[in-house]
Amino acid sequence: MGVLPGIGPKRVEALAGVGVRTLEELLRYFPRAYSDRRSMARIADVAEGDVVTVEATVLKSRHIRMRGRMSMAEITVSDGSGELKATFFGRGFLARAFSEDKRVVLTGTVSQYQGLAIKNPEYEILSGDEEDRLNTGCIVPVYPLAENVTQRYLRRWIRSALDAVSGESVDPLPESVRRERGFPPLGSALRSIHFPKSEEEAQAARRRVIYEELFAIQLQVLKARAKRRSEPNQRRHVVDGPTLNAFTQSLPFPLTAAQQKAVDEILADMEASWPMARLIQGDVGCGKTVVAVHAIAAARDGGFQSAVMAPTEILAEQHHRTMKAWLDPLGIRVALLTGSTKGAAALRGSIAEGDIDLVIGTHALIQKATGFQRLGLVIVDEQHRFGVAQRLALTQKGAQPDILHMTATPIPRSLALTVYGAMDLTLIDELPPGRTPVTTRKVIPSKEAAVYNHIKKAAGQGFQAYVVCPLVEESEETSLRAATAHFEDLANGVLAGLRVGLIHGRMPGPAKEEIMNRFKAGDIDILLSTTVIEVGVDVPNATTMVIEDAAQFGLTQLHQLRGRVGRGANESRCYLLGKTKTPEGRKRLDILCETNDGFVIAEEDLKLRGSGEIYGWKQSGLGDLRMADLTRDARLLALAREDAEVALQS
Ligand code: ADP
Ligand code: MG
Repeated sequence: MGVLPGIGPKRVEALAGVGVRTLEELLRYFPRAYSDRRSMARIADVAEGDVVTVEATVLKSRHIRMRGRMSMAEITVSDGSGELKATFFGRGFLARAFSEDKRVVLTGTVSQYQGLAIKNPEYEILSGDEEDRLNTGCIVPVYPLAENVTQRYLRRWIRSALDAVSGESVDPLPESVRRERGFPPLGSALRSIHFPKSEEEAQAARRRVIYEELFAIQLQVLKARAKRRSEPNQRRHVVDGPTLNAFTQSLPFPLTAAQQKAVDEILADMEASWPMARLIQGDVGCGKTVVAVHAIAAARDGGFQSAVMAPTEILAEQHHRTMKAWLDPLGIRVALLTGSTKGAAALRGSIAEGDIDLVIGTHALIQKATGFQRLGLVIVDEQHRFGVAQRLALTQKGAQPDILHMTATPIPRSLALTVYGAMDLTLIDELPPGRTPVTTRKVIPSKEAAVYNHIKKAAGQGFQAYVVCPLVEESEETSLRAATAHFEDLANGVLAGLRVGLIHGRMPGPAKEEIMNRFKAGDIDILLSTTVIEVGVDVPNATTMVIEDAAQFGLTQLHQLRGRVGRGANESRCYLLGKTKTPEGRKRLDILCETNDGFVIAEEDLKLRGSGEIYGWKQSGLGDLRMADLTRDARLLALAREDAEVALQS
């Protein structure tokens, strides 16, 4: 399709401003609403509170100056049956446009203003020519407006564009799909969206266009996945080698069925000829770490190095501790590389020489200075905390290494099919046995003392607790000082007599590590923390989580924080403190109290935030969603997936 015919340069520019440069784009500049002008209201019949559209003649038009530099236009119109006022606040300049005897269409809610009036109606001034047919007596599209472009212009141009392309547009939906799903052909769908004869017709056409958008995304991600799986890489890992076997033997507990399935899927990928790109998702505490270690052992048996990247030093240190304990005895050389590693240069040397088999670290791993001899496996823990570029940077330190992403933030199905659609997915949907679900409660400020009493009592029985306090900006000196002061108050006040430790993101790495080690060892009863402990930290003896000012946090973040407890057999509790000022804040906390199911929480989170802000969408290369809404259109998405799979197979 060509460029826009018969539109002057100034307006072409205006259209370009809203992303319309071609006929095709013009046809897909969809109405944001419709105004039903099939039947106009009689002014004599309108009453306060009605939403009406009237077609009438201007009797009077006044420009009224108000206080300051504000002005308004006030017009009086008549349709023969009666008179009605319309007011345009802050838009006094309109008074001139509504000159006497002009025919106008006004849409809005009727209210009282020196008699009946419509305040700030949608309006249209009719020209009295042929073109008024597009603007009256039918359902009229209302477009998002661009500067210098009126509704009338848009309607005219789009109508001629529709006429110009009628019959010749190529339908991106295969005919078989269209017929099976009962969607109208593209040409008539576009016409129905712009100039529908009924609401239902517009609705059906929109469904088709939404579907088309989702279908295109499904084709794109499925093709990407197929492409990866058809690209041979030179390396196949050894999946029944001595290291892996020894590791399996040495495991202190049997894997859950879900963990075993994850391990099997990973090993199948590693053995296969294509590079692995797998996302393991499993709720907090389901035991992803041990699953990942199987992959590391297999890589080692194939003679490859592995890298594990974690978003925080605390988490990297914890993985280092856990993995080293498991893998050291098997002869795997394990090292930790973070921003606070001493002798990093020498360590980097060993990594480059191939003297280290497994490096666990933070962003330090992706720095230029870090190079590997034979990097064959990349594991990204809490992958959503990294940007696409960061994950890529690590991957590029090897030659097409196998990639394993892990996340404890459950991914709603709609995202699994789109943002993560090109990866293979594994779900660990089972917790290790013997866990007791966490009980979650909201606590109003006057009842906080009871919470701290509970902590004290639990500490008396040898259990530990976290107290988390949100910082607006962890990097901000003032808020950090406020948090520290608050913690000191707690330590010297309600928590006096207990062993209290403080940890926050700005502490130097070794200091953090020391505190975490003492907490793990049980030498600290209460860990006062900012959100640095949000992800991954595993201390099964901690049974109470107190989150101050909980409404400040997002839903999935709260779920992550809560996931720090309930990791042992003992009953755990999570207390959500603070005032909830907004309805959304209240809703978040209520959801959390109602369920421990990470998937339910992730779906709710997506609903609350809306799919406009989907994390990772921008970098996914999937383009903007124009009409589709992943939550609202989940059913269409599932259909599109099915159909795209079939389309690619044939
Ligand atoms: P997450 O999936 O949140 O990263 P972790 O890997 O930290 O969870 O595991 C949480 C805890 O569960 C750890 O202490 C781990 O040793 C333990 N664990 C993992 N798998 C099992 C299992 N199959 N049986 C018993 N405990 C397990
Ligand atoms: Mg983890």
